Amino acid sequence: MNNINRNIFLAALMGISFGLFLKIYPLWSLNNAFLEANVIIGQLFINSLKMILVPLVFFSIVVGVSNLGNSKKSSTIWKYTLLYFFSTMFLAIFTALIIMNLVKPGIGITVDSWPEAKNAITSSLSIMEFLKQFILGLFVNPFQSLSSGNILPLIIFSILIGASFNGGGTKIQAGKKVFESLYEVIMRIVNWIMMFAPIGIFSLLVTMVESQSSELFSQLSIFIITVIGIMLIHGLLIIPTLLFIITKISPLSLWSNGRPAFISAFATSSSAATLPLTLSVACNTFKVPKSIANFVLPLGATINMDGTALYEAAAALFIANLVGIDLSLSQQIILFFIAMVASIGAPGIPSAGMVTMAMVLQVLGLPLEALALLLPMDRLLDTFRTTINVEGDLVGSLIVQKVTKL
Ligand code: ASP
Repeated sequence: MNNINRNIFLAALMGISFGLFLKIYPLWSLNNAFLEANVIIGQLFINSLKMILVPLVFFSIVVGVSNLGNSKKSSTIWKYTLLYFFSTMFLAIFTALIIMNLVKPGIGITVDSWPEAKNAITSSLSIMEFLKQFILGLFVNPFQSLSSGNILPLIIFSILIGASFNGGGTKIQAGKKVFESLYEVIMRIVNWIMMFAPIGIFSLLVTMVESQSSELFSQLSIFIITVIGIMLIHGLLIIPTLLFIITKISPLSLWSNGRPAFISAFATSSSAATLPLTLSVACNTFKVPKSIANFVLPLGATINMDGTALYEAAAALFIANLVGIDLSLSQQIILFFIAMVASIGAPGIPSAGMVTMAMVLQVLGLPLEALALLLPMDRLLDTFRTTINVEGDLVGSLIVQKVTKL
């Protein structure tokens, strides 16, 4: 693990340096061929992670839940996991709203191309309607969700299978053993993919750094800096403090040992694709029991998104500022709730937050045209929010382990 840890770190440094070099010397004759090769290699890495994702989530949750049931502590793990997820998302959105109300980025700029923007805030998609669709979407044909990679219903189905392995006769226990060995098989493939991780991360970072437009940064710099600042407060202060108070694990130990997962999150912008690394860091480095890691981490990669939640709240306020709407306290409470639902509903894949951002804007009656403004910088901000998402998941497994004393 330490070797992979070091190699991934070196690969990330080299990827960023190379990307900057190519940006500064764009006429370098091999530039295009080199970048094209890196696009393919980077995509190959992400595809291989996606390939393993659905089986990994399925088997890890089944095995995790089936083992949880053996101990009387299973309901305690459930309770603490959900309590942790909701409290940290609450803190993330709260911090975002406070800081955005203080800094007020976007005030004073007018965007002429949004004519209907000054409309009163009306809810064009009711929250109840959204919730109804969300809840109904949790129970679908498992084979359909397996093949389409629809993770949330897959998680529900895996939990049911895992739960059904609790107790039961010898036939049921034999089935459980089959799942356990298939899980080991999947983990072997995960380890093979991880050997390829440094090369994949190098390629992803080279192409990302090279293609970032600098003009974009100057236009939206205050908003970008504010959002990154909020994420840093959450990721460097709030979450590590919570971890330290509850488990006595120091922030430095979290950041240095968790580095492979954080760098992968930064480079892939996908909590789901990073899941194999997060699991490996939690189990191999922090020695979190598999029964906890296999439950908290896949669930966290899907529903626990502190970075996405705070980003959606901040971006909605930014857009409201741009169109000259001062959101009242009650409107900000709606924003609070909808940002949380939107982040829970966003799958752990790149730019997923942008899809649910449309819902947030719609609920608040803000112009959907604003997405065109948010999208170009999403690649950059997604890297940060995914890292925060993954940090939140990893810390969740450590805290749940501590408070349930397993
Ligand atoms: N990319 C994020 C993740 O995978 C989701 C988002 O778009 O906010 O965690």
